[in-house]
Amino acid sequence: MNLSRLKKLLSGGGVRVPHHKDTANYPTEQLPLPAKIVLPMNQHVGAPCEPCVKKGDHVYVGTMVGMAPSPMSMHIFSSVSGTVSTVGPILYNTGKGDTVVVVDSDGLQEPDPSICPPEVHDRESFINAVSMSGIVGLGGAGFPTDIKIQPKNLSEIDTLLINGAECEPYLTTDNREFLEHPNSILDGIRACLDYLGIPRALICIEDNKPAAIDLMTRKTAEDERISVCVLESRYPQGAQNVLIYNATGRTVPRGARHTSVGVMMLNVTTVSSVGKYLKTGMPLVTKRLTVAGDAVRDPKNLEVPIGTPIQDVIEFCGLREEPHKVIIGGPMMGSAQMDVNYPVTRQNNGLLLFGAKASEKPNATACIRCGRCINSCPMGLSPLAIRDAYVKFDADRLDALMADLCIGCGTCSYVCPAKRPLTQSVTLAKNFLKTKRNRGKN
Ligand code: SF4
Ligand code: SF4
Repeated sequence: MNLSRLKKLLSGGGVRVPHHKDTANYPTEQLPLPAKIVLPMNQHVGAPCEPCVKKGDHVYVGTMVGMAPSPMSMHIFSSVSGTVSTVGPILYNTGKGDTVVVVDSDGLQEPDPSICPPEVHDRESFINAVSMSGIVGLGGAGFPTDIKIQPKNLSEIDTLLINGAECEPYLTTDNREFLEHPNSILDGIRACLDYLGIPRALICIEDNKPAAIDLMTRKTAEDERISVCVLESRYPQGAQNVLIYNATGRTVPRGARHTSVGVMMLNVTTVSSVGKYLKTGMPLVTKRLTVAGDAVRDPKNLEVPIGTPIQDVIEFCGLREEPHKVIIGGPMMGSAQMDVNYPVTRQNNGLLLFGAKASEKPNATACIRCGRCINSCPMGLSPLAIRDAYVKFDADRLDALMADLCIGCGTCSYVCPAKRPLTQSVTLAKNFLKTKRNRGKN
């Protein structure tokens, strides 16, 4: 039996945002091979990888170039065949530093001869296989997937939630994954259910993706363990705690992991990548990006070798006008880039370019106490009060206001008629509270 359900958002929180999903029907195109790739060793949550190649080495597509130094990390693999030209630290003009492996492409794209499908026959071999796949949370979180699928309370997990909400405006990469690789998604889901012993999976999709809903509903019609859960299009529907509440009715307690309520959550492209890896043994070496925004001449969904400089992607799509703002990710939670030489990493799913008018920063005016920021916060927080407590460095008050629950969704800033930078203030408050707590422990 297949269930399709429409759920309401957490206590009326969140906001309707313009979707701008103009690329939803654009099939994925391949970016022409870049001349070189730049692979930062820090493309995930956890310890940065350690380079395991040296200058002059020949590498293939899928050759490991960065080795995870601890379990909370994930290996990094070359997305081109060619010669390693640089291993070492670089400094971006943002002031941010990193260790990178640079590979000059030979244009041949020869796969690593050692690559073959992993032998998987039980839970341990499944987890071991995923730990060699290079797969991290591909919705943007970058959390190592092998760690995600082995929580301490695995036997208590009764639901695998597949996050296909893709609630950020402009982004359509997960939508394309549903339409182009439905069988890989189901392969990955079934592997998780079978090897991890989870009884059911819910594939969560916002109702602004009717083709994806229709396809996945048909594809899962014969599988009693897998259902499609249709959710209202309302930002930030894809945020972990919001999605868990709306799909299962369970509330994640403050400070707890989502596994504490019996749920394991994986992004749809993540689980699909697991399905592909089990079939081919080729680790994650490419990433789909939605390239959009009013400064882009030809918006696209592009499959890009990981490590491709952003500039190469911009040149391929062309420009209508000089971009004044370049965002990696979505417009609500993405980060503005100062350097287009920075490479595409495995967590990236969007590249948005905006012209002068769309990039204008509104002037903040005085708060008119309208309460919209409070009413729309999906976590039930009071951004204004948090901001006031932060400017007084009042950690006790911030704790009482639960500033640590902020998910940085940007909704409060978006709805504020006075255009106050609330998200930035709450993020600073959250970091301040975290630092205070850590100092208190030491
Ligand atoms: S950024 Fe934080 S405070 Fe603002 S709406 Fe989102 S969760 Fe609430
Ligand atoms: S939304 Fe803006 S103007 Fe309204 S109460 Fe919040 S900070 Fe003040």
